[in-house]
Amino acid sequence: MSELISVSQAEALIAEHMPSFGSERVRLDDAAGRVLRQSVHAEHDHPPFDRVMMDGIATLWSETLPQRLHVAGAQMAGMRRQSLSGEGDCLEVTTGAMLPHGSDCVIPVEQVRRDGDDYVLGDDCHPFAGQFIHRRGSDCVQGARLLSPGMRLGPAEMALLAANGVANVEVASVPSVAIVSTGDELVDVGAALGEGQIRRSNDTAVRTALRMDGFDRVAMEHIVDDEAATRERIAALLERHDVLLLSGGVSMGQRDYVPAALAAQGVRKVFHRIAQKPGKPMWFGIGPRGQAVFALPGNPVSALVCATRYARPALLAAQGMAAPVRELVSLSEAVDANPSLASFLPARVESDASGRLVAYPVPSRTSGDFSSLPRTQGFVQLPPGQGKAPAGTVAAFYRW
Ligand code: AMP
Ligand code: MG
Repeated sequence: MSELISVSQAEALIAEHMPSFGSERVRLDDAAGRVLRQSVHAEHDHPPFDRVMMDGIATLWSETLPQRLHVAGAQMAGMRRQSLSGEGDCLEVTTGAMLPHGSDCVIPVEQVRRDGDDYVLGDDCHPFAGQFIHRRGSDCVQGARLLSPGMRLGPAEMALLAANGVANVEVASVPSVAIVSTGDELVDVGAALGEGQIRRSNDTAVRTALRMDGFDRVAMEHIVDDEAATRERIAALLERHDVLLLSGGVSMGQRDYVPAALAAQGVRKVFHRIAQKPGKPMWFGIGPRGQAVFALPGNPVSALVCATRYARPALLAAQGMAAPVRELVSLSEAVDANPSLASFLPARVESDASGRLVAYPVPSRTSGDFSSLPRTQGFVQLPPGQGKAPAGTVAAFYRW
């Protein structure tokens, strides 16, 4: 039987062995939600010209600015730059227009009144030089670094790509993932349930976890508990996919064929079994083409905990994303800390009056009890400990 390794050793071994899935160039439209794999610099100064910030009039300010200004023309958004020449003149302007040559002051339309060919300043209008002008380069200057590899392309990042003329974007390739259930007792969600059978749900849970991170190239597969069939199906899946995520068949039972079948197909074991509860039987290895193979225990809580704690972060890191900031919570009550195993405790989190996140454990009696998981947002990780972890213990929290 393999030695148990610690949670952090398992994490480090996975990180050390994970392949990179490469990158590809996609159209801007197809880049939303993907992980950026290039730097982006400002194409030009932002704003690219001194820009009018209000609808109104532009004029040249002076101590002796008259109350009545003659309208000499208009400078609308999108027009080439106009010039203002005469003192006591103004140009009508709109938000987003270039600031006309010869002007340095924008007066909002709310503060003036049109009177024939003139604008008359209101009594409470006290303009000053430079007002309502968004200066060229005041947001950022040409060449400034705006985006870095590893950023997830959300609305703000996508806006900057568009604003800087990046029509084609280098993003991390999405690996092709096979999510594999094993077990004779498992039937499909739509099938009739026979005696001794349950519906499979781990595949749906794991697929959902991956989808939320943008891993949408997913195939689902079911393998029965048969040694030859397990070997054959695994061989076929290794041909087609970059990542295999199996659940079940990884313990020491007489029908747990997964570790042997993986080895027979040239998947090199990196580790088997982690000092943790639940999820102790987890297996991880690397296929002949560098495929990452995560074999998760079959019990639903174990499968989801292991997928969340190991597979998801590893896949994100392989795309070049920086590790997320670890969230810390404090325990609402004392809990038993297993002396030799790390404990993963499903919990509900809420912030207390001072804004601190407090975790309320929602214990499941066994890793086969998963009906209470929807009342949790993730799980607390407690290191192996002596006796009880007291209320107030600070620990890492991992969200589903
Ligand atoms: P195993 O790891 O194959 O020994 O399975 C452990 C427990 O998890 C058994 O009770 C299985 O029926 C259950 N199980 C295995 N795979 C799944 C699955 N995909 N969905 C739901 N339960 C499963
Ligand atoms: Mg099984």
